[in-house]
Amino acid sequence: MSPEVFAEGDIVGVLTTEPLDRVLDYRAPEGGCAVGAFVIVPLGPRRVLGVVWGPGQGDFDRTKLRQVAAVLDAAPMLPGMHDFLTRVADYTLTPLPAMLRLATRAPGLGAPPATRRVYRRGDAVPDRMTDARARVLAVLDEFGGLSFTLGELAAQAGVGTGVIKGLVAQGAVSEQEAPRDLPFPPLDPDLLGKALTPDQAVAADALRAGVRGQAYGATLLKGVTGSGKTEVYLEAVAETLRIGRQALVLLPEIALTGEFLTRVEERFGARAAEWHSGVTQTERRRVWKMVGEGGAQLVVGARSALFLPFRDLGLIVVDEEHDTSYKQEDGVLYNARDMAVLRAHVEAAQVVLASATPSLETWVNAEAGKYARLNLGARFGPAVMPQMDAIDMRTEDLPSGTWISPTLRAAVAQRMDKGEQALLFLNRRGYAPVTICRACGHQIGCETCDARMVEHRFLKRLMCHQCGATKPMPETCPSCGVTGRLAAVGPGVERLAEEAAAAFPQARLAVLSSDLFGSARALKEAIAEIATGGADIIIGTQLVAKGHNFPLLTLVGVIDADLGLQGSDLRAAERTFALMRQVAGRAGRAEAPGTALLQTFQPEHPVIRAILAGDEDAFWRAEAAERKAAGVPPFGRMAGIVLSSPDVQAVFDLGAAMARKDGPLRRIGAQVWGPAPAPIARIRGRHRVRLLVKADKAAPLQAALAEWAAQFRLPANLRLSIDIDPQSFY
Ligand code: ADP
Ligand code: ZN
Repeated sequence: MSPEVFAEGDIVGVLTTEPLDRVLDYRAPEGGCAVGAFVIVPLGPRRVLGVVWGPGQGDFDRTKLRQVAAVLDAAPMLPGMHDFLTRVADYTLTPLPAMLRLATRAPGLGAPPATRRVYRRGDAVPDRMTDARARVLAVLDEFGGLSFTLGELAAQAGVGTGVIKGLVAQGAVSEQEAPRDLPFPPLDPDLLGKALTPDQAVAADALRAGVRGQAYGATLLKGVTGSGKTEVYLEAVAETLRIGRQALVLLPEIALTGEFLTRVEERFGARAAEWHSGVTQTERRRVWKMVGEGGAQLVVGARSALFLPFRDLGLIVVDEEHDTSYKQEDGVLYNARDMAVLRAHVEAAQVVLASATPSLETWVNAEAGKYARLNLGARFGPAVMPQMDAIDMRTEDLPSGTWISPTLRAAVAQRMDKGEQALLFLNRRGYAPVTICRACGHQIGCETCDARMVEHRFLKRLMCHQCGATKPMPETCPSCGVTGRLAAVGPGVERLAEEAAAAFPQARLAVLSSDLFGSARALKEAIAEIATGGADIIIGTQLVAKGHNFPLLTLVGVIDADLGLQGSDLRAAERTFALMRQVAGRAGRAEAPGTALLQTFQPEHPVIRAILAGDEDAFWRAEAAERKAAGVPPFGRMAGIVLSSPDVQAVFDLGAAMARKDGPLRRIGAQVWGPAPAPIARIRGRHRVRLLVKADKAAPLQAALAEWAAQFRLPANLRLSIDIDPQSFY
């Protein structure tokens, strides 16, 4: 089917990235344009990016219609992408322009095709041969027809750039202009992968067959950390490449991509395209364009890679599919895991959800047979899942202001004697979560948020984890004016490190917390260094739970296993269960067996008991039964509505009005709860009120929400955001 093409002067509808509520009419430019073409159009005095969405509506005065200013040098958007963006917009109640912005997040798409100078072997023979000249020609001969930039060639040959320029003048090297956005080197799916164990081979066969079917299919690939999930899904990637389709692997954490890309390179002989916030702007544009032109076979990226313009996507892998970072919490509120399943539908592709501890949603879908399920049994090689035990903190004798129990301390000492590593896990950044005045009891809070300031000794400041505001640590209590009585309460990783240093003065400590590293690269380097034995004790936040490989690590001590169970979050139990198992999974990956010790004040708590028992299916069954009884996700549907404004009265007034005029929701049998102050009632000076909507699984929730919200006029400066399937409740 050839794409629909508009002739010059035809009226076309252009969706722009500007926040307008409709597609605008324009006249097609000289030479016409195709549906899906990326274009620049005039809008008022400006020129903005857009895409030809379809025929124009023609309801606008024809004589005033402006013409499309330019058609960009980029592959037109395909019908599948058009469909996907429309469906995500409908599902998340996001305006289409915001979707288009998400799908065009590469700089300079509007710039003229960029070129750069490249150098290849020329025909002529130089008049005089020197050592340096010979080296240049040898490099060019060795790499066949490949071309180099001036800098690359000079570096390869170990000569100055003048030598190359001299050869150009003689015609022995040719200088040409080439497009700057070059295709990625081809990946070879037929290089030998690892010899798979029998259950790995069964799983890989199933995934390969799915890929060959070229139809939609979803699979939960479940196995403990180290069981070879990555090895297995790389075989599905290989099959995808073999049949000439593209593959996308989503990872939850940028710091993981380095290690992963190296593995991909070993498996396929070349590097995959990379897409996340740490990638340079020019490289982003290259990836975006090459994905659309088919010059990138495999993309490894963060959640937004899902909105790249793949030409023929055959496989999406969502690694660590339970990870909460797949939920985008500002701007377009989408869950990349769910949208990956949707995109796979649209593209007739396979989606693989890989995890040791799947989300309850995914587990339920697998139980119901909507997703296929592949289990990888034991860990690869001699490593086994660590022994898990609780340390009952009610019976431990702990001086105040310390958090490492004598039992845990003895266990750490034992590992150190054997030259093994120990990890102390505490999911709290900074030095202390609370700073209190011992004279008046005042707790230092953020000026613009309803949150306490967290002390960061490393930065020598207090910081608000909601808005990022910082201030110096005061000497004097801002409430009662007494000096010298401010005290830190509770531990963060920095304080825990202090305690560990005092307890183990001879140990080399490493603290892994996202705020302690200036860049993803610095973090990657630290992780690599630790993995090769650069530290005896690792102190870390949840950053360490995500798939890093520490082969020398044999003990994991969880400082506060109860932490995640506090609060009323729907997913508190699920998250604690997953996090504890993930963290424990860091121990004993190599030959030495591992142990995980959980410090808890409530060893009888059902979640703690389930973690220790290691009976995952029992945990999921119990959790599913509870959610089913309560009619909450994944058995019912929810939407979170947050109203925010500097004017506290305005948010409560609108919230109350919304609760009253709930006709559109009642008609579909949905219920509204609230308005109530949001758990964090003020962020950045904006008061926050929330409503919760609960509906049956089959109810047409989005349409009802849209109709409901459309009844209200928002006062200036009041923001309304609707979060479908909310993940966090703040
Ligand atoms: P997961 O993704 O489940 O955590 P990985 O695929 O990363 O597991 O495997 C863990 C480690 O074991 C990796 O270093 C991997 O290369 C190795 N491994 C897994 N399966 C095999 C195999 N069949 N042969 C050789 N090494 C393997
Ligand atoms: Zn704040």
